[in-house]
Amino acid sequence: MNKQPVAADSPGSAAPGVATPEQVSTGSTCRVEARGVGKVYGSGPAAVTALQNVDLRIGAGELLVVLGPSGSGKTTLLNVIGGIETPTSGRVIVGGRDLTGLDTDALSEVRRTMVGFVFQFFNLIPTLTARENVALLAELTGDTRRDTVQQRVQQVLAEVELADRVDHFPGQLSGGQQQRVAIARALVKQPRLLLCDEPTGALDPPTGRTVLALLQHLAHGEGRAVVVVTHNQALTAAADRVVRMGSGRIVADQHNPHPVDASEVSW
Ligand code: ADP
Ligand code: MG
Repeated sequence: MNKQPVAADSPGSAAPGVATPEQVSTGSTCRVEARGVGKVYGSGPAAVTALQNVDLRIGAGELLVVLGPSGSGKTTLLNVIGGIETPTSGRVIVGGRDLTGLDTDALSEVRRTMVGFVFQFFNLIPTLTARENVALLAELTGDTRRDTVQQRVQQVLAEVELADRVDHFPGQLSGGQQQRVAIARALVKQPRLLLCDEPTGALDPPTGRTVLALLQHLAHGEGRAVVVVTHNQALTAAADRVVRMGSGRIVADQHNPHPVDASEVSW
């Protein structure tokens, strides 16, 4: 259970001396912004409203945890922020770039250069080694210089502490190791924004904690904007900010003045 005090983040409600999320972020650059974002799937009587009037800002160096029950719009929010889905209304701005009205090629370019995705079930290709899984993404996204790719692949696998497992296949790795390969794959493009959908959902607590610690480091140590969607309340202790969703809306947006080290989070 999260015992950390979480201060309300509405204007004027912060206690004196409590930093706002913008002040906490390394630098004051706002990396990602959603303004009045709505998303409706389908039309007519079959229409499903997945997001309604969502306003959100995510700063560089910030670990944002998004909580909410199943069907509350968490995945849709990640997909809209990451340029996988186009919002029906509102705007999304990533790294100063307004995604509204971008064509397929331009959106693809934003995803390729600025955004990394991490999923609950890792989504690694079972017949490729850790190294090949990571290299594949680098190559698919346009970098075909073999030496550079291999060097970068080695680098990111070392960063997730898998330098000694590069030639293992996913089936020869534990769940936590597979998720770290998946994170390395997301990092190979050096994205400023990392979007993680239930990244610890399939892991046992000690392994999940290791993955959370890595994500926290990518935010606090490397200045990336990291969004973690989860239904696990415990993760909020390590977050700089906690957003709660319900029925496609943000129902709470709170700044955590004292995020704990992920290695100390228990669930
Ligand atoms: P969460 O990730 O919080 O479980 P989702 O973002 O996946 O929620 O879904 C939000 C709502 O949008 C749900 O009602 C879901 O059924 C609906 N939805 C999600 N994706 C689609 C889609 N591609 N087509 C139609 N409805 C969708
Ligand atoms: Mg989901």
